[in-house]
Amino acid sequence: MIVSMTRLVKRAYKFRFYPDAEQEALLARTFGCTRFVYNRALAARTAAWKDEHRRISYVETSALLTEWKRDPDLDWLNEVSSVPLQQALRHLNTAFMNFWDKRAAYPTFKAKRRSRDSAEFTYRAFSYTRDPAGDPVLKLAKTTRPLDVVWHRAVPADTTPSTVTVTRDPAGRWFASLLFDAPVDPMPAPAGASPGRVAGVDMGQVDTITVSTEHTDGTIATAKTPGLMPRQTLEDKLARAQRRMARTQKGSKNRAKAARTVARLHAKIADRRRDHLHKTSYRLVRDNQAIGLEDLDVRGMTRTGRGTVENPGTNVARTAARNRRNLGVGYRELRTMIEYKADWHDVDIVHVDRFYPSTRMCSTNGCGHITGPIPTKVRSWTCPHCHTLHDRDINAATNIRAAATAVLACGDGVRLRGGQPSRRTHPADETGNLGPRGPKPDPSGPGS
Ligand SMILES: [Zn+2]
Repeated sequence: MIVSMTRLVKRAYKFRFYPDAEQEALLARTFGCTRFVYNRALAARTAAWKDEHRRISYVETSALLTEWKRDPDLDWLNEVSSVPLQQALRHLNTAFMNFWDKRAAYPTFKAKRRSRDSAEFTYRAFSYTRDPAGDPVLKLAKTTRPLDVVWHRAVPADTTPSTVTVTRDPAGRWFASLLFDAPVDPMPAPAGASPGRVAGVDMGQVDTITVSTEHTDGTIATAKTPGLMPRQTLEDKLARAQRRMARTQKGSKNRAKAARTVARLHAKIADRRRDHLHKTSYRLVRDNQAIGLEDLDVRGMTRTGRGTVENPGTNVARTAARNRRNLGVGYRELRTMIEYKADWHDVDIVHVDRFYPSTRMCSTNGCGHITGPIPTKVRSWTCPHCHTLHDRDINAATNIRAAATAVLACGDGVRLRGGQPSRRTHPADETGNLGPRGPKPDPSGPGS
């Protein structure tokens, strides 16, 4: 008997759609009502806490919503589906739980300008069927026609989404994100003749990802992938559009037009980056059995103004700061993607402590000399002990792979199945340079 091993995971499928006038008006109103309900419930919860030191539960806010809907002054709340309003209260409740568990700051009001236009519909508030041709048909509550969705990819057959989240991005594009219990697509065979055993990934301080892979046949390959950040041309266009916008009169038509251009460029840059990150993480998970990642202190990276991104030539402080921020965001996204893809496909993730001196340690077999801090600008260095000339990133990736290999060899306690993040320090590397407590914090910054 064959036992089915198909694993189901929650998976969002995002599609662009083009609303008609009725849908656009209703959804715009829904966004407004959702924000209103969220803010009003937040005010009620805050007041109850300040005045009576009392915590208001989700159920109580739900009862409040029923009251508000009976208020003649708030009659317009009844014009939209009640489901997204309930979901807003649920999201607020989650925000409070995160605050109480010290995972997040106190919830803040959603301002029209700064918050995302978003409404979540559960199965009670949409219908999902198939037309005779087999294409999905999605219709939201209180609308007459189905949404004009661009079904650019296949959705899981024989199953209905549990939620549909409708968003409008600042560039004015509409998206519907359908959440399915979907089977994991089988991963195709690795691209190379010999699959990778363990890969070490160095997320560099400049815009490169360096991967060092040891193949099952013993060969070692190192590759650099550039371009986590948008192309300079797009960045230039964005800078120009922002300058143009700054010159326009506040509240004018030209201002709105310029703002739309800026938003469109931001969206384009984000799309390109995400696409690139998906490809990079996909290849890593497809081609390797285990992946060593450095525990990058992304927060530190975005906070400290010192030496995380070098930008020779146009070294304007503001540009550097923005690049650093983008790079930090990019790395965080990439890690998340590698981790969940690894989890789906049973690839091991090994987190190498960020105080591990991956950059400063000589990766030559049998050497392992640790040198002093290496400034960010220095892209290559010569080991004073064995006189090998090292490329900074390749050396780091090689060391991260070695550390991951050592962790995997140690077995229980440090071996991690799937993408479970861990703060554990690996006990020792091959060269024996590191004690169980790990090395001293590296003074040259995270990941150096
Ligand atoms: Zn050496």
